[in-house]
Amino acid sequence: MAIIFVFIDGIGLTTASNDNPFATTAMPYMQSLIGGPLLSDAVGQHRQALLLAVDACFSVPGLPQSGTGQTALFAGIDAVGLVQRHQSHFPPTALQQTLRERSVLRRALVHGSSTFANAFDGGFWEAIATRKIRKSASVIAAEGADVRFRGIAELATGQALSWDITNDVMQARHPDRVQTIDAYDAGVNLARLAQGHVMTLYETFLTDLVGHGRSNIDAGTVVTRIDRLIGGIVATMRPQDSLVMSSDHGNFECQSDPSHTRNPVPLLVVGPACDTLHEVRDISNIADALERVMRPE
Ligand SMILES: [Zn+2]
Repeated sequence: MAIIFVFIDGIGLTTASNDNPFATTAMPYMQSLIGGPLLSDAVGQHRQALLLAVDACFSVPGLPQSGTGQTALFAGIDAVGLVQRHQSHFPPTALQQTLRERSVLRRALVHGSSTFANAFDGGFWEAIATRKIRKSASVIAAEGADVRFRGIAELATGQALSWDITNDVMQARHPDRVQTIDAYDAGVNLARLAQGHVMTLYETFLTDLVGHGRSNIDAGTVVTRIDRLIGGIVATMRPQDSLVMSSDHGNFECQSDPSHTRNPVPLLVVGPACDTLHEVRDISNIADALERVMRPE
């Protein structure tokens, strides 16, 4: 049994409009799972997949943000309620210890091993050391579970994924070592490496960057990458494995506004975890539900 947890930063679930790249770009692999595009119309249990619209706002006014949203998602705590606000970028200091101790990566350790599929290069760790950037919720969660971080050597051999799915950024930084990859093959690699672990986390924040207008990659290309990633995972995962894809807040699905949105986020589940995750109502319920998947009663 392996859980493949794909975290896609900043995607909300709403209806079709010309503004919503999930409505304007074909997603053939997604279509085969949920009968149509990744829109709120497709919510429900399908033959192979479950799609839910999950709350990320927690009845707190303002726009949901990554710091509290990712803490809620990875640690299964009401991060927004605990600090009474939506905090952007990085987890609230007061909740970081809980994130270390309660993340899905840490919870899986009683049942086997956890892994974080993303590759980080030396430049990333140097930027952390010199405080140019701060640790994301995922990095804090992985540290709390004592997970070994993957690097360029693993990325070069298909034993890790890059945050942009296709390795373009890492290839430009390490042209002698890293090749770009089709997003479908990245999905194949992810499902393969997940087979050795109870819980595997992968995150991409390309969607949030594009949603904020901070990337020159067009939204349709991003949708295609996500679709092919999912296609590669689903084609490769074993019957006992589950794919769980979700987000921390909306953004990308409303291209005319560079801010986050209050839309619910999608929770897409493929595999045996569908039986448990249909109970999820907000993003803080996902970690507990995944723990029940790891420990069937
Ligand atoms: Zn954002």
